[in-house]
Amino acid sequence: MSFRLYNTLSKEKEIFEPVVPGKVGIYVCGPTVYKDSHIGHAVGPVIFDALKKYLSYKGYQVKLVINITDVDDKLIIEAQRLGISIEDLARQVSANYFEAMEKLGVNSIDVYPRATDHIGHIIKLIQRLGENEAAYEVDGDVYFDITKCRDYGKLSHRRSEDQMEGTRDLAGAGKRNTSDFALWKKSADDEIGWDSPWGRGRPGWHIECSAMSMEYLGETFDIHGGGMDLIFPHHENEIAQTETATSKPFVKYWMHNGLTRIKTKQTSGDWSEEKMSKSLGNVRTLKELLAEYPPETIRFFLLSTHYRRPIDFSDEAIVATQKGMMTIYRLLERVARITDEDVYAHACDVAKMEQVAQSDDDKQLRDAVTGGQLRYLEALDDDFNTAGGIAVIFELCTRLNRYIDQQRLELQENPSAKALALEAARMISTLGKIIGLLEKPLEKADSGAGDELAGELMELLIELRRDAKTNKNYQLADTIRDRLKQLNIALEDRPDGTGWRKE
Ligand SMILES: [Zn+2]
Repeated sequence: MSFRLYNTLSKEKEIFEPVVPGKVGIYVCGPTVYKDSHIGHAVGPVIFDALKKYLSYKGYQVKLVINITDVDDKLIIEAQRLGISIEDLARQVSANYFEAMEKLGVNSIDVYPRATDHIGHIIKLIQRLGENEAAYEVDGDVYFDITKCRDYGKLSHRRSEDQMEGTRDLAGAGKRNTSDFALWKKSADDEIGWDSPWGRGRPGWHIECSAMSMEYLGETFDIHGGGMDLIFPHHENEIAQTETATSKPFVKYWMHNGLTRIKTKQTSGDWSEEKMSKSLGNVRTLKELLAEYPPETIRFFLLSTHYRRPIDFSDEAIVATQKGMMTIYRLLERVARITDEDVYAHACDVAKMEQVAQSDDDKQLRDAVTGGQLRYLEALDDDFNTAGGIAVIFELCTRLNRYIDQQRLELQENPSAKALALEAARMISTLGKIIGLLEKPLEKADSGAGDELAGELMELLIELRRDAKTNKNYQLADTIRDRLKQLNIALEDRPDGTGWRKE
């Protein structure tokens, strides 16, 4: 199976072949640390962390870099507003960002380079452009001359005439062309700045990413990622300045994730969807969100949509995700209880599964599990379709729950069927782990109710049902079971008593 990836550059799915066989370099545009992150900022890191895990699973040696923009006009303005230094603001916001990433299981990032640690590299790159006559200085500001890049626009597929429109009329502040963009900006005395051949100043945003990505991944590397809103002008400009400096292709595959839309209620009472941005006042920070929901839910939610599609964020959507996800955790808990084994500790042993499958039912389950594994990997190979992969996991769960019910594994001593159920459950966890899901039991995943009172009431009902049975009042016992079933609560009679689970 070969991995196919949609490349924004060619607008096609392409077979993935890294620049250096066996090795993959990935660069993702990270946050500008001037305000706390919201869910939109978690999308890229979660997707590319999952992608790195998947490519590592496939045997590649992967290096993943996400940058931190810690010098920018937005930071200058926000720090002034708060009356603190830019350094303190950047440190504080980055710390919150890293904490959120850790909770979300984003733990495969090799480097989080900061722009301010790479000023020297940025200056050198601008000088290189100057040598190629593609950069020019106007009173302490340095611009990129886009007429020096013949194929400008090849990523965003915007016509070059669009870029050049109004060139003569609108060129201002000494720029040669309207679309020329800043590589270096002159800093006022009270603004943050570094000494450079052009006087004291600070880097433009686009050049930071070119300098840092090349520093860690070389002049030509495999995958450059970011949100779709970065295609133009940020990534277009990155390509223009880097390729003009090196005369080499910059990036082989451009991967862009869909944007997060938030559902908001309009004054008219209608709901509308809009792109999530920091300017929307009602956006909760990641920190707030992670305090409300288990981080696994947020990661699961973000990977439940194919990365190129927009993510519609709402509390209802998160709650629905959590409900679905809990059915998986509850099944794994169920198997752990039946077999008295740790489902998460080991990967699925396919050979063992072959060995213990005896009856037709067993063989059907075994085939469903191995077939599911294949379809899961096929989904990921098809432009990293994590949504398709997760759908396969749900199918396997339904299948395994049904097998356990049919075989009455809570009541029967059937070692081979239990061993088979254990391997099937381990396959579910094994598949999840490939993209950083289902790695360990969820806290309080046993009842799924998350509600002490519900647990106590269930104990009471189970006790009443037991008494009814003892008194041969089978009608009452059945009524209790049936009514609970209507509430999607299943009772499980086990040798050591009766348990329950939400379905
Ligand atoms: Zn960038």
